Amino acid sequence: MAKLYFRYGAMNSGKSTALLQAAYNYEERGQHVLLAKPAIDTKEADHISSRLGVTRSVDFLIPPVADLRALFAHHRGELVRRENEALVPEADGRRTDVACLLIDEAQFLTPEQVDDLLRIVVLDGVPVLAYGIRTDFRTQAFPGSRRLLELAHSLEELKTICRCGRKAIFNARLVGGRFVFSGDQVAIDELSTERVTYESMCAECYLRESGGRIDGR
Ligand SMILES: [Zn+2]
Repeated sequence: MAKLYFRYGAMNSGKSTALLQAAYNYEERGQHVLLAKPAIDTKEADHISSRLGVTRSVDFLIPPVADLRALFAHHRGELVRRENEALVPEADGRRTDVACLLIDEAQFLTPEQVDDLLRIVVLDGVPVLAYGIRTDFRTQAFPGSRRLLELAHSLEELKTICRCGRKAIFNARLVGGRFVFSGDQVAIDELSTERVTYESMCAECYLRESGGRIDGR
Protein backbone atom coordinates (compact mmCIF):
# COMPACT_ATOMS: atom_id res chain seq x y z
CA MET A 1 0.00 0.00 0.00
CA ALA A 2 1.29 3.45 -0.90
CA LYS A 3 2.22 5.78 1.95
CA LEU A 4 2.86 9.46 2.54
CA TYR A 5 6.31 9.95 4.05
CA PHE A 6 7.51 13.19 5.64
CA ARG A 7 11.25 13.40 6.19
CA TYR A 8 11.99 16.57 8.08
CA GLY A 9 14.92 18.23 9.72
CA ALA A 10 16.67 21.48 10.45
CA MET A 11 18.49 23.27 7.64
CA ASN A 12 21.61 21.50 6.40
CA SER A 13 20.37 18.11 7.54
CA GLY A 14 20.93 16.66 4.10
CA LYS A 15 17.31 16.63 2.92
CA SER A 16 18.10 17.31 -0.74
CA THR A 17 20.91 14.74 -0.69
CA ALA A 18 18.52 12.15 0.77
CA LEU A 19 15.88 13.02 -1.83
CA LEU A 20 18.30 12.66 -4.74
CA GLN A 21 19.56 9.38 -3.28
CA ALA A 22 15.98 8.07 -3.00
CA ALA A 23 15.31 9.02 -6.64
CA TYR A 24 18.49 7.27 -7.69
CA ASN A 25 17.51 4.12 -5.79
CA TYR A 26 14.20 3.91 -7.69
CA GLU A 27 15.83 4.56 -11.06
CA GLU A 28 18.58 2.04 -10.45
CA ARG A 29 15.79 -0.56 -10.36
CA GLY A 30 14.40 0.72 -13.67
CA GLN A 31 11.52 2.60 -12.05
CA HIS A 32 10.35 6.12 -12.85
CA VAL A 33 9.95 8.98 -10.39
CA LEU A 34 8.71 12.55 -10.60
CA LEU A 35 10.52 15.34 -8.74
CA ALA A 36 8.72 18.54 -7.80
CA LYS A 37 9.12 21.55 -5.52
CA PRO A 38 7.09 24.62 -4.61
CA ALA A 39 7.73 27.58 -6.91
CA ILE A 40 8.18 29.93 -3.94
CA ASP A 41 11.77 28.78 -3.46
CA THR A 42 13.49 31.03 -5.97
CA LYS A 43 17.11 30.57 -4.96
CA GLU A 44 17.58 27.34 -6.87
CA ALA A 45 14.81 28.01 -9.44
CA ASP A 46 13.85 24.64 -10.89
CA HIS A 47 16.74 22.59 -9.55
CA ILE A 48 17.35 20.43 -6.51
CA SER A 49 20.92 20.82 -5.29
CA SER A 50 22.62 18.79 -2.60
CA ARG A 51 25.51 20.23 -0.66
CA LEU A 52 27.59 17.32 -1.94
CA GLY A 53 27.44 18.90 -5.39
CA VAL A 54 24.78 16.78 -7.08
CA THR A 55 22.17 18.83 -8.92
CA ARG A 56 19.10 17.76 -10.83
CA SER A 57 16.19 19.53 -12.54
CA VAL A 58 12.72 19.06 -11.14
CA ASP A 59 10.02 17.63 -13.40
CA PHE A 60 7.61 20.36 -12.37
CA LEU A 61 7.26 23.35 -10.08
CA ILE A 62 4.21 23.77 -7.84
CA PRO A 63 2.75 27.31 -7.94
CA PRO A 64 1.20 28.50 -4.65
CA VAL A 65 -2.37 28.24 -5.95
CA ALA A 66 -1.92 25.03 -7.95
CA ASP A 67 -4.27 22.06 -7.67
CA LEU A 68 -1.47 19.64 -6.84
CA ARG A 69 -3.39 16.46 -7.52
CA ALA A 70 -4.37 17.66 -11.02
CA LEU A 71 -0.82 18.89 -11.67
CA PHE A 72 0.59 15.51 -10.68
CA ALA A 73 -1.98 13.65 -12.82
CA HIS A 74 -0.94 15.74 -15.82
CA HIS A 75 2.77 14.99 -15.40
CA ARG A 76 2.09 11.35 -14.61
CA GLY A 77 0.13 11.10 -17.88
CA GLU A 78 2.93 12.80 -19.80
CA LEU A 79 5.53 10.39 -18.42
CA VAL A 80 3.42 7.33 -19.21
CA ARG A 81 2.77 8.58 -22.76
CA ARG A 82 6.45 9.43 -23.34
CA GLU A 83 7.69 6.09 -22.04
CA ASN A 84 5.17 4.08 -24.00
CA GLU A 85 6.23 5.87 -27.19
CA ALA A 86 9.88 5.03 -26.58
CA LEU A 87 11.55 2.60 -28.94
CA VAL A 88 12.56 0.15 -26.25
CA PRO A 89 9.58 -1.23 -24.34
CA GLU A 90 9.85 -2.26 -20.69
CA ALA A 91 11.75 -5.53 -20.66
CA ASP A 92 9.11 -7.46 -18.76
CA GLY A 93 6.13 -5.92 -20.54
CA ARG A 94 4.94 -3.98 -17.49
CA ARG A 95 3.02 -0.80 -18.09
CA THR A 96 5.28 2.12 -17.27
CA ASP A 97 4.08 4.29 -14.39
CA VAL A 98 5.34 6.66 -11.74
CA ALA A 99 6.75 4.65 -8.84
CA CYS A 100 7.08 7.64 -6.51
CA LEU A 101 6.54 11.39 -6.26
CA LEU A 102 9.37 13.22 -4.48
CA ILE A 103 8.85 16.74 -3.11
CA ASP A 104 11.69 19.04 -2.06
CA GLU A 105 11.17 22.13 0.15
CA ALA A 106 7.80 20.70 1.20
CA GLN A 107 7.49 23.27 4.01
CA PHE A 108 6.41 25.78 1.35
CA LEU A 109 3.39 23.75 0.20
CA THR A 110 0.01 25.05 1.31
CA PRO A 111 -1.99 22.86 3.72
CA GLU A 112 -4.45 22.21 0.86
CA GLN A 113 -1.60 20.94 -1.32
CA VAL A 114 -0.52 18.57 1.45
CA ASP A 115 -4.12 17.30 1.58
CA ASP A 116 -3.67 16.60 -2.15
CA LEU A 117 -0.52 14.60 -1.42
CA LEU A 118 -2.55 12.30 0.80
CA ARG A 119 -5.14 11.94 -2.00
CA ILE A 120 -2.37 11.11 -4.49
CA VAL A 121 -1.15 8.41 -2.11
CA VAL A 122 -4.47 6.89 -1.11
CA LEU A 123 -6.75 7.52 -4.09
CA ASP A 124 -4.17 7.40 -6.91
CA GLY A 125 -1.93 4.77 -5.32
CA VAL A 126 1.41 6.55 -5.73
CA PRO A 127 3.80 6.83 -2.77
CA VAL A 128 4.96 10.36 -1.90
CA LEU A 129 8.23 11.25 -0.21
CA ALA A 130 8.14 14.85 1.06
CA TYR A 131 11.29 16.50 2.44
CA GLY A 132 11.20 19.74 4.37
CA ILE A 133 12.16 21.94 7.28
CA ARG A 134 9.94 21.57 10.33
CA THR A 135 10.08 25.08 11.79
CA ASP A 136 11.08 28.59 10.79
CA PHE A 137 13.66 30.82 12.52
CA ARG A 138 11.04 31.82 15.14
CA THR A 139 10.44 28.11 16.00
CA GLN A 140 6.99 28.20 14.34
CA ALA A 141 6.01 25.32 12.07
CA PHE A 142 5.79 26.11 8.38
CA PRO A 143 2.14 25.61 7.27
CA GLY A 144 3.08 22.81 4.87
CA SER A 145 5.18 21.05 7.49
CA ARG A 146 2.47 21.31 10.12
CA ARG A 147 -0.03 19.64 7.76
CA LEU A 148 2.52 16.95 6.85
CA LEU A 149 3.12 16.22 10.55
CA GLU A 150 -0.66 15.77 10.87
CA LEU A 151 -1.23 13.59 7.78
CA ALA A 152 1.90 11.57 7.00
CA HIS A 153 1.80 7.80 7.46
CA SER A 154 5.48 7.89 8.31
CA LEU A 155 7.67 10.56 9.94
CA GLU A 156 11.44 10.43 9.84
CA GLU A 157 13.78 13.01 11.31
CA LEU A 158 16.97 13.78 9.39
CA LYS A 159 19.55 14.86 11.91
CA THR A 160 22.23 17.48 11.89
CA ILE A 161 24.59 18.74 14.56
CA CYS A 162 24.61 22.07 16.40
CA ARG A 163 27.88 23.98 16.89
CA CYS A 164 27.99 22.47 20.42
CA GLY A 165 27.63 18.88 19.22
CA ARG A 166 24.02 18.35 20.27
CA LYS A 167 21.32 17.57 17.74
CA ALA A 168 20.11 20.76 16.03
CA ILE A 169 16.34 21.25 15.95
CA PHE A 170 15.95 25.00 15.28
CA ASN A 171 17.11 27.32 12.50
CA ALA A 172 18.43 30.64 13.77
CA ARG A 173 18.45 33.53 11.27
CA LEU A 174 21.37 35.87 10.85
CA VAL A 175 21.14 39.15 8.96
CA GLY A 176 24.54 40.58 8.12
CA GLY A 177 26.06 38.08 10.56
CA ARG A 178 23.87 39.05 13.55
CA PHE A 179 21.10 36.87 14.99
CA VAL A 180 17.54 38.16 14.58
CA PHE A 181 14.47 36.63 16.21
CA SER A 182 11.60 38.49 14.57
CA GLY A 183 10.62 39.16 10.98
CA ASP A 184 8.83 37.45 8.09
CA GLN A 185 8.76 33.66 7.91
CA VAL A 186 10.41 33.71 4.50
CA ALA A 187 13.20 36.26 4.14
CA ILE A 188 13.41 37.75 0.68
CA ASP A 189 17.11 38.25 0.06
CA GLU A 190 16.59 40.92 -2.58
CA LEU A 191 14.82 43.25 -0.13
CA SER A 192 17.71 43.31 2.27
CA THR A 193 21.08 44.91 1.68
CA GLU A 194 22.57 42.53 4.24
CA ARG A 195 22.94 38.84 3.62
CA VAL A 196 20.43 36.51 5.30
CA THR A 197 21.92 33.22 6.50
CA TYR A 198 20.85 30.49 8.89
CA GLU A 199 22.49 28.36 11.53
CA SER A 200 21.02 25.05 12.66
CA MET A 201 20.98 24.99 16.45
CA CYS A 202 19.97 22.97 19.46
CA ALA A 203 17.43 24.50 21.86
CA GLU A 204 20.11 25.37 24.42
CA CYS A 205 22.24 27.39 21.98
CA TYR A 206 19.17 28.99 20.40
CA LEU A 207 17.85 30.25 23.74
CA ARG A 208 21.30 31.48 24.73
CA GLU A 209 21.52 33.55 21.54
CA SER A 210 17.91 34.80 21.83
CA GLY A 211 18.26 35.73 25.48
CA GLY A 212 15.51 33.27 26.36
CA ARG A 213 13.00 34.60 23.83
CA ILE A 214 10.93 32.20 21.76
CA ASP A 215 9.00 33.53 18.78
CA GLY A 216 9.94 37.09 19.70
CA ARG A 217 8.55 36.84 23.24
ZN1 LIG B 1 23.94 23.72 20.66
